[in-house]
Amino acid sequence: MQTTHLRHLLTTEPTLRRPPSVDTPEAHAAWSRTLRATLARLARVTPAPLGVAATTTTTAEGLRRDRLTLTSPVRGTFHGTLLAPEDTTGRRPAVLVLGGRHARMEQLTGETPPDFPDRNVAEHLARAGFVTLSIEHGIGGGLDEERRAGRDEGTLLAHAFALTGRSLLGALVGDALGALDLLTAHPLADPERVGLFGHSLGAAVALHTALLGPRPLPVCAASHLGSYPALFARLLTGHEGAVLPGVLEYADLPDLYAALAPAPLHLQYGTADAYLEPADARAAADAVRRAYATASGPLEVRELPMGHGTHVGHAVDFLTRALAQPADAAADVPAQRIHFDVADRRAILDRVDLALASGHLTQGPELARFEDRARTWTGVAGVAVASGAAALEIALRIVGVADRTVLVPVNTFFATAAAAVRAGARVRFVDIELDGLGLDPAALRTALDRYPDTAAVLPVHIGGIVSPLLGEVVALCAERGVAVVEDAAHALGATLDGRFAGSFGRFGAFSFFPTKVAVSGEGGLVTCAGADPASDAEQVRRWRDHGKSAQGSTLHDRPGGNWRLSELHAAVGTVDLERFDRTLAARRDLAAAYDELLDGVPHLRAHTVPEGVRGNYYKYLAYLDGPVDRALLKKRLRERHGVALAGEVYDHLLCDQPYFTRTAPEAGTEAGTGGGTEAETGAGTRGGAEAEGPFPRARWFARHHIALPLYPTLTRAEQFRVVAALRAELS
Ligand SMILES: *Cc1c(COP(=O)(O)O)cnc(C)c1O
Repeated sequence: MQTTHLRHLLTTEPTLRRPPSVDTPEAHAAWSRTLRATLARLARVTPAPLGVAATTTTTAEGLRRDRLTLTSPVRGTFHGTLLAPEDTTGRRPAVLVLGGRHARMEQLTGETPPDFPDRNVAEHLARAGFVTLSIEHGIGGGLDEERRAGRDEGTLLAHAFALTGRSLLGALVGDALGALDLLTAHPLADPERVGLFGHSLGAAVALHTALLGPRPLPVCAASHLGSYPALFARLLTGHEGAVLPGVLEYADLPDLYAALAPAPLHLQYGTADAYLEPADARAAADAVRRAYATASGPLEVRELPMGHGTHVGHAVDFLTRALAQPADAAADVPAQRIHFDVADRRAILDRVDLALASGHLTQGPELARFEDRARTWTGVAGVAVASGAAALEIALRIVGVADRTVLVPVNTFFATAAAAVRAGARVRFVDIELDGLGLDPAALRTALDRYPDTAAVLPVHIGGIVSPLLGEVVALCAERGVAVVEDAAHALGATLDGRFAGSFGRFGAFSFFPTKVAVSGEGGLVTCAGADPASDAEQVRRWRDHGKSAQGSTLHDRPGGNWRLSELHAAVGTVDLERFDRTLAARRDLAAAYDELLDGVPHLRAHTVPEGVRGNYYKYLAYLDGPVDRALLKKRLRERHGVALAGEVYDHLLCDQPYFTRTAPEAGTEAGTGGGTEAETGAGTRGGAEAEGPFPRARWFARHHIALPLYPTLTRAEQFRVVAALRAELS
């Protein structure tokens, strides 16, 4: 062995080692999140439920024993045993038991006499009142002597995993996460009181399972402490099954334990352990102590006069204390969660990597792929641009709105109107209708009569609902030769009578900003569905690239801008679009669940999505009635229940935005709306009574609606919490 080479190799300084500057609980939590995200990428755990192929139950000597044949999608069949006190009534604290590399199930569970006095951890825990599930790692025993040729089976298995870019540890953790789900859902187990025990390789699995699992869990880890360089260099014992490939580039073993803080942690190691150095283990323990002190978490470290074993008594004591109380209340329900799983992240990184390797950083193959994927959800061809705002502005510049009127719903995001202002238009506002939340056709007709110079109308599909009255809006505009530009920033994938948002007007503008249903970081799309879509698309391409008359040309035929989408953003957007069918299905499923759950909640009424519309549930909208104070409700939901509502769409009408109240009437504050009455200016109505003045319907909507948290990773349990919180506050 080239020991100099080895020593040199192991002097690597991990880039995510916990820095001393991490000295507040918040800073610790942020560091821990970063490290866990990196570990998740290295581990490549395939989340898949474990199957139970067979169960045999026996009882003896006061214990109930369920022998399970488990099936893992990654590793095939392996064994587990559920062990619990025989007289169990009600639910008990539960522990997933992960033994060492050579631990056999019968020994862990005390079925056969243990080879070491401490081996039968599961039996001890069950006799102490826990429900335990032990799983074997399934390493070894499959290859005959001749093929093995003296080599370690775990090593051979690890090499096979390496061939596919995966790791044995990642597979073991995947199975442990599946086993944890089985245990948590078991009728004997209290789902609020679940912990992990691991010895040696099992401790590595327990550690990574806790780091990658969905919620903090107490961990008891025996005979697995030290630094990777010491463990590898001194004894060459770093088993492939116990480390994630590449981990030392980012973090050392003490960092991983530190990242568990503030979840309860018990570490024990022996001074006579042939596999680790006490001084190195002590130094590791100190690093973990510092993290636990910062994060105010309970930590126990026991240095014991033992070999590579377990002190069962300490383990039982720790788990008894750690699981005496249910885990802290569930984490808050945020207003929004943007989630890319590891497979998506790797797909994005691969594409970004190719873009970097080719040097083609903008307007390349990723852009073409993004436009192609988007078409599935718009029904018509589109041209990708830098943002939703750019999409709107480009469409309006092609229509030609300078010094003419553009009609905008008074209830929309500021960008809808600002794009028209930047394109040189005078903006006038129009009231909405309350079924589909689109432009009110009667108000639009009045406005079109009043402003015969109108060049474009911008319907907005609020909350991802394409209004059933859009057809009337389009017909009114067609009669007068006025262009329709749909602001479809909310509405990717939403349909009306089977037709996609963005395919009704001459142009549709989409946004891929992080708050929207599909995201690219920053990004937009202009769809072209007018009389000559190919020519319109070509014009969009020119506008987005400095008005070049062709890509690569040095001739410019219009004052275009830099409205290009980079390859890096396109890579993110493409991957998000490739999973968009699942995104939409999840959003619709969650919305249907809210529809049922909200039934009977007082003072609250879900918005009914009209017949013929399939929304994308960019927002799940509901109305507060009676004297409910929305701001106070939101504050109480947050403070008393940890529930954040999503942002309104919108809480201020555009006519009340400072930019429009400040500008002179000809720049756009005047309102064209409302049953033929003379419209008032937005400014003139401030301080007026509710639902009075111009835009009565939009004003009512802006005051009374709320948006419930809804995103694909929202769980049913979180939905229950949201609705229970609303019920509590509104009753
Ligand atoms: C988000 C949004 C925009 C602007 O999109 P960006 O990508 O942020 O420029 C325009 N209109 C509406 C209705 C939006 O919600």
